[in-house]
Amino acid sequence: MTTVARRGVCLVISAPSGAGKSTIANALRAGDSSLVHSVSVTTRAPRPGEKEGVHYHFRTMEQFRDMAAAGELLEWAEVFGRGYGTPRAPVEAALAAGRDMVFDIDWQGHRLLRDALPDDVVSLFVLPPSMKELDRRLRSRASDAESEIDKRMGAALAEISHWSEFDHVIINAELDRAVREAQAILVAARLKTKRQHGLAALMTEYEAHRPT
Ligand code: ADP
Ligand code: 5GP
Repeated sequence: MTTVARRGVCLVISAPSGAGKSTIANALRAGDSSLVHSVSVTTRAPRPGEKEGVHYHFRTMEQFRDMAAAGELLEWAEVFGRGYGTPRAPVEAALAAGRDMVFDIDWQGHRLLRDALPDDVVSLFVLPPSMKELDRRLRSRASDAESEIDKRMGAALAEISHWSEFDHVIINAELDRAVREAQAILVAARLKTKRQHGLAALMTEYEAHRPT
């Protein structure tokens, strides 16, 4: 098979908390081992089962602010009173190597990342089928305290109000369908003409076979 050199895609997935973005991102990675997950830094406590360096890099607020001040974060924001940010070095390495990355970040992170990497970001906003279902999903996660769930439910409409800033919107009613739709967006992004910089070399090869 002919493979054409290309730049990596930064697939940003945002949603109100509980809509299913981590579930969709995990399914994308499970179906494509070449996808790199951008592991964010956070100052919140780990949920049961969350591992340092896998789900997040868990840091104190002081460490987080030091990283931001040193320019080690490509973007960062305060969400629910806690610091969240994207480490810069892994993103730069993946893009240069032509590997795709998935970012589970909020609308503020999306805006900043788009400013930092305008040609590389493809964004996807995930909506719940209804606010009632969002509330049910937040409660089904069961690892967050009641007050935390109320805070996230209260912030949901503010997050949702940014839907139109994103390239694509998926309503996550049926998970399998939502995952297939997210896969289609990623495939289409990979095939963008301007991303496939290796096409010029392929054209040279074609030319070599021009009948004389
Ligand atoms: P987010 O990352 O957006 O905060 P999660 O991916 O953690 O949300 O999903 C929240 C809860 O909803 C989880 O318990 C997850 O299993 C469940 N969930 C996700 N998508 C669906 C779906 N399409 N149908 C039913 N439950 C879902
Ligand atoms: P959670 O605490 O549920 O893992 O995430 C809370 C919110 O923070 C979610 O909306 C998530 O997308 C966002 N978030 C996670 N990592 C980052 C990050 O690196 N940057 C930004 N801007 N938001 C993030």
